Amino acid sequence: MIREADLEALGRLVGPDNLLTGQPQLEPYTTDGTKLVFAPDAVIFPRTTRQTADILRLATDREIPVIPRGAGTGMSGGSLAVNGGLVMSLEHMNRILEIDRENLIAKVEPGVITAHLQEAVEKVGLFYPPDPASIHISTIGGNVAECAGGLRAVKYGVTRDYVLGLTVVLPTGEIIRTGVETMKGVAGYDLTHLVVGSEGTLAVVTSITLRLLPKPETQRTMLAFFANVTQAANTVSSIIHRGIIPTILEFVDRTCLECIRKEMAIFIPPDAGAMLLMEVDGNAFMVEQDSSKIKDACEEGKAISFKKASTRAEAEQLWQARREVSPSLYKLKPHKTSEDIVVPRSRLPELIAVLHELSSRYDLPLPAFGHAGDGNIHVNIMHDRENRSEREKVVPLVKELFEKILKMGGTITGEHGIGITKAPYLEMEIPKPGLNLMSRIKEAFDPKGILNPGKIFLP
Ligand SMILES: Cc1cc2nc3c(=O)[nH]c(=O)nc-3n(C[C@H](O)[C@H](O)[C@H](O)COP(=O)(O)OP(=O)(O)OC[C@H]3O[C@@H](n4cnc5c(N)ncnc54)[C@H](O)[C@@H]3O)c2cc1C
Repeated sequence: MIREADLEALGRLVGPDNLLTGQPQLEPYTTDGTKLVFAPDAVIFPRTTRQTADILRLATDREIPVIPRGAGTGMSGGSLAVNGGLVMSLEHMNRILEIDRENLIAKVEPGVITAHLQEAVEKVGLFYPPDPASIHISTIGGNVAECAGGLRAVKYGVTRDYVLGLTVVLPTGEIIRTGVETMKGVAGYDLTHLVVGSEGTLAVVTSITLRLLPKPETQRTMLAFFANVTQAANTVSSIIHRGIIPTILEFVDRTCLECIRKEMAIFIPPDAGAMLLMEVDGNAFMVEQDSSKIKDACEEGKAISFKKASTRAEAEQLWQARREVSPSLYKLKPHKTSEDIVVPRSRLPELIAVLHELSSRYDLPLPAFGHAGDGNIHVNIMHDRENRSEREKVVPLVKELFEKILKMGGTITGEHGIGITKAPYLEMEIPKPGLNLMSRIKEAFDPKGILNPGKIFLP
């Protein structure tokens, strides 16, 4: 509980309009993409780096927990006030400060909505590739803190690959510039990429310098159905062997297809056991050439059907099949625990076999879909929380899934982070010496442990 005197001091730093303490106003800040609920004591809205520093210095002095927050779309509980405290919402620091066409960089504040940046740079012929499926709601600050991925990661990489430099505020109130505003730079330790993906536990990001690319001239979307996952996975390998890295290479399994079958404008063959959604981009000649090579690979891979969109409207229809998947899974069971594991791309068929075995042994549906191109698959454990026996199966199932993924050379999270939901499993992937070093780094940034406590590391 934050003491009254501390709330008054915080109010003096930002003005009364930028501090919420009343119950109804706090409500939108109690949850995130996990749908878990934890109430903060107050929410504060800094407007500048200087204010952010003043708030954090006061919080360290008075040992007030501070939980940075973007749009609250995180899928591992990173922005939740698990033990109360002060949520620091960066939503009003939302200006695009500069788009530099000469040097191909953008400077933004953390509260900029990802899609707004993409639209702004595309208007001047440039391109910001990271595209989490939440782009219309998530913030760049949240993307940086989680190192968000997205559908285009197979070709263009993840948020980390586009962050050149940051302004960050340490919990002690020190303001630090990290990285560079140039394409190269190796002076000192790479603090930029230490903060990227640190889930708001090391510092608060208050401005970001991003690398941009020229906007690709055109793109082409394709969709193919296969009788089974092995054929789809072999086709993925065959596309890569042909020297093509598609912009998008998304996979959907049989259970997911059954959930979306009735709502689709496009026909899903009754014997379809897997779907691939593919997109290539570049100049018109290259796109034509690559899409015809992909068609060859699909035919050779025994695709039951193959469609190539020739207009944006047709492409939209193909995309609908992928977009419908996640919400449609609630037809199976009322609750879903989503994992975003990664396996080496070539081991996708093995992963699907593991999921079938776990699904039948635990007697719960485990529909899977996601980024086949980079092996990052969203596995959904469908269950009914009201049913005790189903509820109690989830944790051992997750643990067994993670054990198998790690044995396959994979990782327990490709883009959603550890937060609170995966903290109990982190030691399965990172043994004690690595975790101890991370704790010492955390202590160097945050000696009093006030910034986002309870995240990543188990208390
Ligand atoms: C429908 C849906 C689809 C999604 N699809 C994807 C996807 O395709 N790929 C993907 O990677 N993720 C995806 N996500 C997850 C989520 O959108 C991302 O993790 C996103 O980056 C979170 O951004 P946010 O602004 O909502 O951050 P929040 O949820 O508010 O915060 C996330 C973390 O960042 C920290 N944080 C936020 N801002 C700052 C800051 N300025 N300084 C320091 N720390 C900060 C918080 O403390 C927290 O730990 C999806 C979520 C939803 C709901």
